[in-house]
Amino acid sequence: MKMDNCVFCKIGRGEIPSEKIYEDSGVFAFHDIHPVAPVHFMLIPKLHIDSLAEVEDKHSGLLGEMMVLIPRLAREQGCTDGFRTIINTGRVGGQEVYHLHIHIIGGGERLPVMI
Ligand code: ADP
Repeated sequence: MKMDNCVFCKIGRGEIPSEKIYEDSGVFAFHDIHPVAPVHFMLIPKLHIDSLAEVEDKHSGLLGEMMVLIPRLAREQGCTDGFRTIINTGRVGGQEVYHLHIHIIGGGERLPVMI
């Protein structure tokens, strides 16, 4: 699905500039504009999915590929001693951009533990 007014759809299509670190036919990865750690990038599907709450069975292959890609990209970005993955979902989850995205964060000191 093409969403004309979605910022991350536009980033995935190259219509809004970003610091790209990876792209293939299904996904796009780019540095977060407001990094919270030395390494902070985002992995998104090119397909518009509002949030993890809207994921369906038909997305399982795509999500599996994203999960497999994360450790490789994290290593390449310098996360040699671990990293954190975060998916904020919906209002309670603090989601700001309604296009499914996975934050990958690391590269510095041990992150504060939330749970
Ligand atoms: P939160 O802002 O609470 O982390 P989200 O999980 O929805 O909520 O994350 C949105 C993230 O997208 C933020 O970390 C923000 O810095 C990042 N972001 C927003 N616009 C851009 C952009 N144009 N390029 C790169 N990162 C962006």
